[in-house]
Amino acid sequence: MSKKPWDKGISRKMYTEEQIAQRVKELGAQITEDFKDKEEDLIIVCLLKGSIMFMADICREIKLPIKMDFMSVSSYGDDFESSREVKIVKDLDEKIMGKHVIVVEDIIDSGLTLKKVLKLLGSRSPASVSLCTLLNKEVRREADVEVQYIGFDIEDEFVLGYGLDYKQEYRNIPYVAVMGSLD
Ligand code: 5GP
Ligand code: MG
Ligand code: MG
Repeated sequence: MSKKPWDKGISRKMYTEEQIAQRVKELGAQITEDFKDKEEDLIIVCLLKGSIMFMADICREIKLPIKMDFMSVSSYGDDFESSREVKIVKDLDEKIMGKHVIVVEDIIDSGLTLKKVLKLLGSRSPASVSLCTLLNKEVRREADVEVQYIGFDIEDEFVLGYGLDYKQEYRNIPYVAVMGSLD
């Protein structure tokens, strides 16, 4: 039996590779401008796993010395939503005290995960903590989180690709797509 097509289950493209690349370039330029005169170190934090593609791309558009670090928080929610409980599975390697931190997310939905991550990072006395998300589902927001850098504001649709998964698959689809029927 051969494998199913890699894009099975996708109903339509939401953002093409070109649109994503253009927006990532703009965000990178904005971050570069905002942090170019700051003396403290800048650490870019990737929240695994959904943010890996966005992280890799945006870091190359930030024309400043940075450190990259990775954090993994567990989610015991179902396949479509995040859980209410957040546990740190992998913490940062870097010390962030006195440093500027930018947390990179794939998508902010309820904001509950980030709220907890931000609280934890804030307790370590960083110089600042900012948030950068590729996608923002404002209509779903439950926790109030301030987001400094937003790629695209989207409606309440379940999206895949460019790092975003459904049951751990589809992360390697190079564009952002809306999920359709799987049969
Ligand atoms: P929240 O903001 O609700 O705490 O959680 C956001 C997380 O839920 C995201 O990082 C992502 O893992 C997952 N999520 C929320 N909306 C979507 C979506 O439309 N598609 C995918 N693949 N994951 C989503
Ligand atoms: Mg995420
Ligand atoms: Mg997921």
